[in-house]
Amino acid sequence: MRLRNVPGARDEIASNRFVVHDPRELKGKWKEKFGNDRPIHVEIGMGKGQFILKLAALNPDINYIGIEKFSSVLIRAVEKQEEAELPNLVFLRFDAEDIEDIFDENEVDRIYLNFSDPWPKERHAKRRLTSTRFLGRYIKFLKPEGYVAFKTDNKELFDFSLEQVKEAGWRLEEVTFDLHNSEFAEGNIMTEYEERFSAKGNPIFRLVGYPPAR
Ligand code: SAM
Repeated sequence: MRLRNVPGARDEIASNRFVVHDPRELKGKWKEKFGNDRPIHVEIGMGKGQFILKLAALNPDINYIGIEKFSSVLIRAVEKQEEAELPNLVFLRFDAEDIEDIFDENEVDRIYLNFSDPWPKERHAKRRLTSTRFLGRYIKFLKPEGYVAFKTDNKELFDFSLEQVKEAGWRLEEVTFDLHNSEFAEGNIMTEYEERFSAKGNPIFRLVGYPPAR
C-alpha cells in the first residue's frame, strides 16, 4: 500500500462514528456493540476497504469489523462508509500485533487476510499475518468452526502460509493457485490489490484454514 500523508485523516478518524475508538473495552462485548447476536467477520489489513464494504452490503445479517494500521489508508474506507452508512460495519485503526486484546474466546466467526504485507526478510517473518505466531493468536478468539481465508498473489508468502498453517495443526481447505480460474471463483469479491495484480496477469492464490480442535 503506497502511503501518502493525508492531511486531516488522523483527526477525522479520531472522531468518526464508524470507527471504534476504544476496541480494548469491547473485548467480549462486540455483540452488544452491534446490538445483535449475528456472526462477526473480521478483515485484518483491510486497506481502503473495497472488499469489506462490498461484503457488508451483500450480507446484512453478518457484522463486519475492518482493521487497518494506518489512518492515511483507513480514511478512504471511512469516506466510502460515510456514503454507504452500513449498520453492520465498523472500522478500527489498530495494529493486529495486539489483536488478542480486543477479542475474547469464541467471539469471531471468520477472519479475512487479503494481500497481507509479505515482510520478505527472514528476520521479519514473525510479522507476517499468516505466521504460526499470528495463527496462535487467532485461535484464541476464533470459534471452533470458524476459519481464516487468505488471498495473495505473492507465491513466496503463499508457500510460507501453507507451511505455517500445517505446522500449527490447522486443516487446509479450498487451496487454489489460480482462484479466478478455479471452482472457487464464483462469488469471489475482489480487493483493491487483487484487481490491480490480476489485471497484470498475476494468478491469485487462496487458502482457507480451520483451527485444530481445542
Ligand atoms: N487488503 C487490501 C487489499 O487487498 O487491497 C490491502 C492490502 S495492503 C498490501 C496491506 C494492508 O494491511 C495495508 O493497508 C497495511 O497498512 C495493513 N496492515 C499490515 N500489517 C497490519 C497490521 N499488523 N495491523 C493492521 N493492518 C495491517
